[in-house]
Amino acid sequence: MSQTVEFIRNNRKKHLDWAIQLCRIPSISTRPENKPDVVASVKWTHETCERIGLKSRMMETGGHPLVYAEWLGAPGQPTVLVYGHVDVQPTGERALWDADPFEPTLKDDWLICRGSSDDKGQVLLYLRAAEAWLSTEKRLPINVKFLIEAEEEIGSPNLAPFVEKHRDLLKCDQIIISDTGMYEDGWPTITYGTRGLVYNEVRLSGPKHDLHSGSHGGVVGNPVTTLAEIIATLHDADGRINIPGFYDDVVNPSDRERKIMASLPFDEAKYVTDLGSPAPFGEKGYTSVERRTCRPTLDCNGIMGGFTGPGASTVIPAKAMAKISMRLVPNQNAEKINKLFWQTIESRCPKTVRLEKHEHGAADPYMAPLDSSYMTAADRALKEAFGRDVAYIREGGSLPILPMFKRVLGADSLMLGFASPYCNAHGPNEKVRIPDLDRGAEAVTRLLGYLARQ
Ligand SMILES: [Zn+2]
Repeated sequence: MSQTVEFIRNNRKKHLDWAIQLCRIPSISTRPENKPDVVASVKWTHETCERIGLKSRMMETGGHPLVYAEWLGAPGQPTVLVYGHVDVQPTGERALWDADPFEPTLKDDWLICRGSSDDKGQVLLYLRAAEAWLSTEKRLPINVKFLIEAEEEIGSPNLAPFVEKHRDLLKCDQIIISDTGMYEDGWPTITYGTRGLVYNEVRLSGPKHDLHSGSHGGVVGNPVTTLAEIIATLHDADGRINIPGFYDDVVNPSDRERKIMASLPFDEAKYVTDLGSPAPFGEKGYTSVERRTCRPTLDCNGIMGGFTGPGASTVIPAKAMAKISMRLVPNQNAEKINKLFWQTIESRCPKTVRLEKHEHGAADPYMAPLDSSYMTAADRALKEAFGRDVAYIREGGSLPILPMFKRVLGADSLMLGFASPYCNAHGPNEKVRIPDLDRGAEAVTRLLGYLARQ
């Protein structure tokens, strides 16, 4: 292993050049005019896989193609599937960038370019590790499969069908993903849980058009008022969600988890001030860290209805609508929560208005086992490469691919994040901290070694 780690250290410059080459390709998956670039980024990845000695192919998905590569020469050893993506977000306004978003710039410790942290720089860590093993030992310590797609930034519309169709090809014992962040620069971080999501739209209608409130006020139901009343019932005075059955399947964080959360530095007052909010808010009995990661939430994301122009217009509006989403935690089930949500809305909706229901998608929460042998090996590899203890965090956002992988492939996911909390992914001047990538590559190299059964 020491020779292999040495290889990583001696090839930093070449590997930085890989990142520069890949980042230079404007693989914006949502823009049809960039389709050739998206394909070019997949091709670059495929060719690099082949060059370092993996068996690789580009595969069609119905949308953008993806790369499937493998090295399966370690019978009796575990098989891991590395997932990542080489497509990127649009750049937004050019004026907000200090340089061309697709002309990689080096500044101090940083590589600045769209895609540098999300997710090209992180995908490359695994190719670096594979190259190091294949160059020094002529083999990998375990079996490794790579699934590198190019539709992540548009919601991976073809990934689940692809995984279902190719479940034998993708069969594995564990999935490893580096598409998350670090708690602080230089602080190795494992994300072990994500929240689920249910997103709905409630539409209420009353009279067939807006009415004069002087002539008709007090005799017809007002959809705006009624919608506001219904939304107001969805939380109780303690900030708990008032939907019968909503908390039935919620698993509280274990004592070990609470200890992990309490051990991470977090300045609540600063957090709230930084967000520009006048005061902390949330469910009674929980800290802000708990509220934003391991407690379910319900938010009205938008509301519209009636007269909102300048001045006064005394109408009884004909309709009103609100978008309402819920973040879910283990072991809540998105389908069940969705049902409970609509039952509650229906039961609280008076006969004076009509209810129309719209759904905008759902995803289950995910939680990786904290005590798996993969987690233990990753902990050791990260600790050695970075020279400090690993931060364990739960993510407040949702990653629908995790429960999908678990359902279809039966495998858990290990999420090792190397993006800086200041990386500005999706924003202007996206960047990645090169020392963290270098240590990340070393950590991944060690991890492959530690996963081998003795
Ligand atoms: Zn990403």
